[in-house]
Amino acid sequence: MTGPHTEQEHPTYAVHDRPLDGNVLAGALGGALGIDVTVAVVACAGCGRRQAVGELVVYASAMGSVARCRGCGDVVLRVAEVREDVLLDLRGCSVLRLSR
Ligand SMILES: [Zn+2]
Repeated sequence: MTGPHTEQEHPTYAVHDRPLDGNVLAGALGGALGIDVTVAVVACAGCGRRQAVGELVVYASAMGSVARCRGCGDVVLRVAEVREDVLLDLRGCSVLRLSR
């Protein structure tokens, strides 16, 4: 097929194929938690690496964001915004250290 592609042929969730850094999580997480979450420290459950949330490698889409460890590439946390709520999946994170 050589014709122009249409939206119907290729529905998209606007996935960014280039990763971003964890600072993009500041809006959703910072708003929900009321702190600057980018300086919070997470420990990766996969390799134990401790890193600031702002250092995570983030793949963002309209469905939500997946933040991966900069050391081993495992998923550390997932964030999705559903209407007024923020859903946070921390299964890949052994510790999340938040400063008051
Ligand atoms: Zn890791």
